[in-house]
Amino acid sequence: MIPEIEWAECLEPGRMLEALGSTLSLRKKLLFGLACCRRVGFLLTDERASRALTLVERFADGQIGPDDLAAAQPKVRAAVEDASFERWRAEADTDFSTHPADSAAAAVEVAVYAVAALFDESASGHAPRTLDFEWAVGRTPHEHAASAARLWAEALSWRAYSPRQGEVRVSRYHRLGATAGRWALWSEEEAQVRLLREVVGPPDRPAVSAWLSEPVVGLTRAIYSKGGWGVLPVLADALEEAGCIDARLLAHCRERLGHIRGCWVIDLLLGRV
Ligand SMILES: [Zn+2]
Repeated sequence: MIPEIEWAECLEPGRMLEALGSTLSLRKKLLFGLACCRRVGFLLTDERASRALTLVERFADGQIGPDDLAAAQPKVRAAVEDASFERWRAEADTDFSTHPADSAAAAVEVAVYAVAALFDESASGHAPRTLDFEWAVGRTPHEHAASAARLWAEALSWRAYSPRQGEVRVSRYHRLGATAGRWALWSEEEAQVRLLREVVGPPDRPAVSAWLSEPVVGLTRAIYSKGGWGVLPVLADALEEAGCIDARLLAHCRERLGHIRGCWVIDLLLGRV
């Protein structure tokens, strides 16, 4: 287990996941991956990919089973193949002597890879792998999602650079794109770390059974089923009335932003792992 101080300061989602190992339930792992994919959801223009995310969410919550995922697998696979074809076509249309590759199509492709990798994690052992391309295998959903964000930043950067008439400097294009991409990658990883902390919570979570009053339970269930994260500060008041004095738990409830399905406080109160 990663020491608490290191857990609080770590900025590498991969290292944190590795440290958690099997202590992180499949449900929590899927909800974290889901949130990472949704951060690049603007790239998921293919309805089959966004539908796959809904299925993963329902599977994580036990609303559907592995057979439902297996039935959907061919559509997710087709979305991956179409995204790869679109990227290949975009590259085929590019004159590399004057322009760098436009990475917008690659960003879309890799965002679909993130969804497919998450789908494969969910359907593992129940359906053929969706993502079996050599370089895509072995990468996690959050890694693909961060790469998609990097590629998108590169694409925007390149598009924003307008060389004067006749001045084509591919190396400058590449420098700009690489810098923007690097910053986007760091920023995405930082956001992913926040998501992981949101889902896992601190290593020393308090026992909550004494605070499960009727209002607390009612509010918690309503928040979870309706995704009403804005009501969490009200839950903090109800918890205090029930005798809760855990400052960290109350402060988390009073944070207005950053809560997602899998929020460690809501899960703790509902007894979900
Ligand atoms: Zn939360």
